[in-house]
Amino acid sequence: MQGVLPRVLPVLFGGTPLICLVLTGQTIQDNLEQLTKNRPYIDLCELRVDLLNPEEYPFIPSFPEVAGIPVILTCRRLADGGMYVGSEKERLALLEEALEGNFAYIDLETDFKRLSLEQKATMKGAKIIRSLHDFNEIPSDIFHRMAKIAARGEIPKMAVMVNSVANLITLFRAKEELREVGEKIVVGMGDFGFPSRILYKRVGSLLTYCSEEAVALGQISARAMKELYRGDRVDEKTKIFGVIGNPVLHSFSPIIQNQGFHEIKFNAIYLPFPVDNVRSFFILAEMLKITGFSVTVPHKQQVLPYLGKITREVKQIGSCNTVVRANNLWKGTNTDYYGFIAPLIKEIDSQRVQSALVVGAGGAARAVVWALRNHGCKVTIVNRDLKRAEQLANETMSSWDSLENAPLYKDVDLIVQTTPLGMAPYEGVDPIPSFEFKRGQVVYELIYRPHLTPLLKRAQERGCLLLFGIDMLLRQGKLQFESFSGYHYPKRLEVELTLEED
Ligand code: NAP
Repeated sequence: MQGVLPRVLPVLFGGTPLICLVLTGQTIQDNLEQLTKNRPYIDLCELRVDLLNPEEYPFIPSFPEVAGIPVILTCRRLADGGMYVGSEKERLALLEEALEGNFAYIDLETDFKRLSLEQKATMKGAKIIRSLHDFNEIPSDIFHRMAKIAARGEIPKMAVMVNSVANLITLFRAKEELREVGEKIVVGMGDFGFPSRILYKRVGSLLTYCSEEAVALGQISARAMKELYRGDRVDEKTKIFGVIGNPVLHSFSPIIQNQGFHEIKFNAIYLPFPVDNVRSFFILAEMLKITGFSVTVPHKQQVLPYLGKITREVKQIGSCNTVVRANNLWKGTNTDYYGFIAPLIKEIDSQRVQSALVVGAGGAARAVVWALRNHGCKVTIVNRDLKRAEQLANETMSSWDSLENAPLYKDVDLIVQTTPLGMAPYEGVDPIPSFEFKRGQVVYELIYRPHLTPLLKRAQERGCLLLFGIDMLLRQGKLQFESFSGYHYPKRLEVELTLEED
């Protein structure tokens, strides 16, 4: 590994926002391995001395030279989310000794002011990051405290818990509220803070933290930051898209949309927004000038009152999964409807599919039943909650029955499974275990992870034609991509995404 003069580099960066890898190894060797693996994706790293075995301490000063990139020196106490359990006196000695090395930055908490250490850092050319942590909330005076730290010539850092979209709005105000403060670090912890980690440049943060194994809530890998989200490429012109839901961080949609944007060189980013309150999200959407977003459980109905324009199928189904800005109005469409029906059209046109059993009566089932009815199919809905089945059946002129009675409908042409049974946390569960599939029936599973659910395995053994949730997901995602970008989804990527899922 090349030894360069790491402490000169931050000056060269001149405030350019950076991707920082938090090193989580217990030995220097572990950390060097993490560094080697992540080198293409990062600009600097943080050596978490508190995570190291004490026998590694003598090797700390030489670490920056070996690392070859700027290194932040940090020794976090238990109370601040770290692992250091020694006394403050021991911590001071450890940090002073470590500063014999050429660290680019040293991270110190606001209540840890030691003149000797600060003087040594200044003498060695290590900038001081002054950290404010709050694992419960965003303190009301946070911007004032940040400004005071900056006035002392230190880099203020806030790492605060974001508990709601309303909190996230506060965090995104940091850029404007602290516009006089040159270098600052803003970290939103927890699921609701996730968008601020990706859009760190829009929060005005000098850097974002990534890690191999999350040492703080909401951290992602440096590779995902650099190659999937490309958070470091966000500029003033980047269009922001996303998916709202709760939970939503597991969503496959950022892969579909970001890879598509990258392939057609569209300056845009797509990220998950965990949303507890739809109204607050629309305020955030105005603040960040979000151009469009996907909607998933549980918000597909809740977005409707905020839309200025809706398509015919949104009105029919009563649920919307795609929202875009159109002439200063939010316009809602439902690509689940088209994504679902597209793989079936051949079977419907050939009259192979004329009757269907739909398992479930939730949001996805609404799009499914309406699409089937609009294409002339006779539908029976079975659901755990009978009232819900009855209501959807009445709206769509369909029949309904209990989940237990599903086996009575064994002669239908098509079975559509729309419940989450079969995917985490219901892996291995079959919602209609007594249903006897017949050769030639079409079986359509909406779950896309795992690829073969227990229900599909049984249907496969009986010689049924299988249709997969991933096909629907990709088709509805492609349509969303067209709404978002105005371009067709790149053909080559469709193949790659399908193969990845297999
Ligand atoms: P939803 O509105 O919450 O509806 C869930 C449905 O599943 C309801 O009918 C519910 O029955 C039933 N259900 C839930 N837990 C159950 C249990 N333990 N036992 C029996 N029934 C249960 O959700 P959704 O939006 O319709 O989504 C459902 C599934 O479709 C999800 O797995 C989602 O990933 C998938 N989906 C896939 C795509 C795709 O593109 N492939 C698109 C949309 C959705 P009750 O009414 O009795 O609660």
